[in-house]
Amino acid sequence: MGTPEYDIVIGLEVHAQLLTASKIYAADATTYGAPPNANVSVVSLAHPGTLPKLNKKVVELAIKMGLACSCEISREQIFDRKNYFYPDLPKGYQLTQDRTPICVGGNVVIFRGTDTERQVRLNRIHIEEDAGKSIHNDHDSDTLIDLNRAGVPLIEIVTEPNLWSAQEAGAFLIEIRRLVRHLDVCDGNMEQGSLRCDANVSIKPKGDKTLGRKVEIKNLNSIKFVQKAIEFEVLRQIGVVNNGGEVISETRLFDSEKVRTYAMRTKEELNDYRYFPDPDLSPLRISEDWLDAIKAEMPALPWEIKQKLINQYQLSEYDAAFISESKERVTFFEEVAEKTRSYKGIANWMMGPIRSHQNINTELQPLTAKQLADLINLIDEEQLSFSSASDKLFNAVADKPSLDVRTISTELGVLLSENGIDVEKLVDEVLRAFPDKVIEYKSSKKGKALLGMFMGELMKKGAGKLNPKEANQILVAKLNES
Ligand code: ADP
Ligand code: MG
Repeated sequence: MGTPEYDIVIGLEVHAQLLTASKIYAADATTYGAPPNANVSVVSLAHPGTLPKLNKKVVELAIKMGLACSCEISREQIFDRKNYFYPDLPKGYQLTQDRTPICVGGNVVIFRGTDTERQVRLNRIHIEEDAGKSIHNDHDSDTLIDLNRAGVPLIEIVTEPNLWSAQEAGAFLIEIRRLVRHLDVCDGNMEQGSLRCDANVSIKPKGDKTLGRKVEIKNLNSIKFVQKAIEFEVLRQIGVVNNGGEVISETRLFDSEKVRTYAMRTKEELNDYRYFPDPDLSPLRISEDWLDAIKAEMPALPWEIKQKLINQYQLSEYDAAFISESKERVTFFEEVAEKTRSYKGIANWMMGPIRSHQNINTELQPLTAKQLADLINLIDEEQLSFSSASDKLFNAVADKPSLDVRTISTELGVLLSENGIDVEKLVDEVLRAFPDKVIEYKSSKKGKALLGMFMGELMKKGAGKLNPKEANQILVAKLNES
């Protein structure tokens, strides 16, 4: 999307809903899809006299994310009141970490295309609470309020203005989603709003040192929309400047149907939030012991797992990247790898037949580790051709974890040793069909090149039931008989 005259500068603010059972300052449940206002105690409703109590798990999850992004973890923290009036905010302020974010700096490695990596610098990750939801029904002039989400814990991941295209912004979100899921910090579900993004976009004349004025596009809830919104916004800003105008700092929203952004408010109309430390929550100190305990609990990170797959199983970069994309894939791969040594074969099956099956049916693993290992081992033992394995046999056992692959393959008659095919007879038939080619084969060195043709004919006749190695041996032997 680069333009010859302008540099594009993007900074993202990503909100991730933390996977805790209860809210950040109250015991109310955080379950998605509960009936409106089911999860609202007096604390969430901000009744006078109620006091917040910080959920320890929130802090631990935020620290985990910070450690995975190489952030510095702040040892002393306060929670600030961000004051504004809105019906879905019962307290009249949001509790957030303005001055003392829990994680400072850090970076996230993104991948562009197949293998180019780049580090995107983070400014910070801080903890805050979500607000409730206002519901505007078309047929009703009233606004309905659902406070289930009020007080649900969030982290906000803020990048430096350090992304240079819509594509990079998308790549960044893909990495963040992968990481929060991997760490069990957030379910990463953008449609349900557990992961959402504000995109800050500016342009400047190519090579200029000073950043242009930024426009903030709020509440984007899919990676595609983030990219489309940025692409539109860049072109809009270039249009403004090329027409002699100036970009103004404002907040815009994205209309996904019209694929355009439109103004919501200018910065001048912004609230003065009058931040100040919340007197009801004591400052939070993170002891070295606590931090060490969290570090000890950190799982291996996706790139560490990828490297392990490459080192331990000799997988290619590409195969390892595919498998390390999700924990489920890694666990499955390792389970199968205990039962067969054909590691490349496991990767091929996971990227080929299994993935196609999952795309059409469900995300669930269609085979058990034992079933896949049996399939691969039968092929390696040359008892089964890949085509009958990936077609007939795979379809017969997919989503039926109790079926035994070896038993079913006997029943289906796909085993090469047991399928009753008389290979010699087939070879004779092929040779009889091409008498002149047989003479040509025998008469000159050049004729030996015809072997491939004979093999092709033979395999066609065998319809996937021949063991290629055995068939080849018999064919050569017969051809050489005088
Ligand atoms: P504000 O004070 O308006 O909240 P911040 O400096 O806190 O702005 O930055 C908010 C987000 O905007 C960050 O993600 C940051 O990277 C991004 N940002 C800041 N300046 C620019 C700019 N000129 N162009 C694009 N993004 C920017
Ligand atoms: Mg700011």
